[in-house]
Amino acid sequence: DKILDAQSTAADTDAELTLRPKFLADYIGQKQIKDQLSVYLQAAKQRNEALDHVLLFGPPGLGKTTLAVVIANEMGADIKTTSGPAIEKAGDLVALLNELSAGDILFIDEIHRLPKSVEEVLYSAMEDFYVDIVVGQGETAHAIHFPLPPFTLIGATTRAGMLSAPLRDRFGIVEHMRFYPVSDLKLIAERSADIFDMSIAESGAVELALRSRGTPRIVNRLLKRVRDFAQVDGKQTIDEIAVNGALNKLQVDDRGLDENDLKYLDTLIHQYKGGPAGVNALASNIGEDAETVEEMIEPYLLQIGFIQRTPRGRQATAEAYAHLHIPYQTGLA
Ligand code: ATP
Repeated sequence: DKILDAQSTAADTDAELTLRPKFLADYIGQKQIKDQLSVYLQAAKQRNEALDHVLLFGPPGLGKTTLAVVIANEMGADIKTTSGPAIEKAGDLVALLNELSAGDILFIDEIHRLPKSVEEVLYSAMEDFYVDIVVGQGETAHAIHFPLPPFTLIGATTRAGMLSAPLRDRFGIVEHMRFYPVSDLKLIAERSADIFDMSIAESGAVELALRSRGTPRIVNRLLKRVRDFAQVDGKQTIDEIAVNGALNKLQVDDRGLDENDLKYLDTLIHQYKGGPAGVNALASNIGEDAETVEEMIEPYLLQIGFIQRTPRGRQATAEAYAHLHIPYQTGLA
């Protein structure tokens, strides 16, 4: 039942490595980000310098890791990948930094989850390319100044608001990744089908795109499942009918909503008469914590215009009522 969860799972890994675009030219959509980055990349290469530090933020599965690898490929640089929770102590970070050569990229996923003590070591590393390591204890304690090669830190986070100001301010390039429109998701479905050597009709790609929650990872995952159904049914080409048939069996609804989204909307509409309702109250009603609701459920519902955030809380829109086949009534709350 996690088929619409944008978080990566072990089952995604193999396909994702095969499907990952390698250069900016293969990276579909996010045009504004690509346009900006290609200028920064070109300028850094012309000056023979490391690229400025880059912060990528946006919901899971939109291609942050992919973009970090693309940046490394474009710079002709090596990339080392880690994540905030994996770096427990300042020493772990220093060990990683110690392995970098000039121009290399260090990618830290979930950078908002770095322990504070580690984050503080990053400040001087990012700003002036050195770390001070304290050795010894008590009276013999002293700092060793440890210079680093110029490198690029790429941080990824789903929650820019969770980053401390001193860390955020040290990124010269900050890019906000947004959900992909259906037209881009369709291109991603067609590209992936091509790599998998599958034949997909335009109608099939559009249908897949509509149900993928604005998220490339979900397009690719659904495509794999649809391929299984089509193969067993002896279908040569994946068309709208094949996609609909397979995804209906998987209980992916026609806007890509899953049980949790529907429960959320149902609660908002029935218990709170469409809102406004506070996120904590809503979350406890559907048995989730507020963070999960804010991170996993609401962004996509906001994006497709099914809910609105108001100063007094969340509110269901006429589109949400229509989707649930409930007559829209205003002024009840
Ligand atoms: P998370 O933070 O959850 O790991 P992410 O944002 O880093 O997610 P990726 O792992 O980079 O997401 O992307 C998921 C998959 O989606 C990739 O393997 C890639 O195949 C595909 N993908 C992402 N963005 C694009 C894109 N712009 N064009 C084509 N495919 C893409």
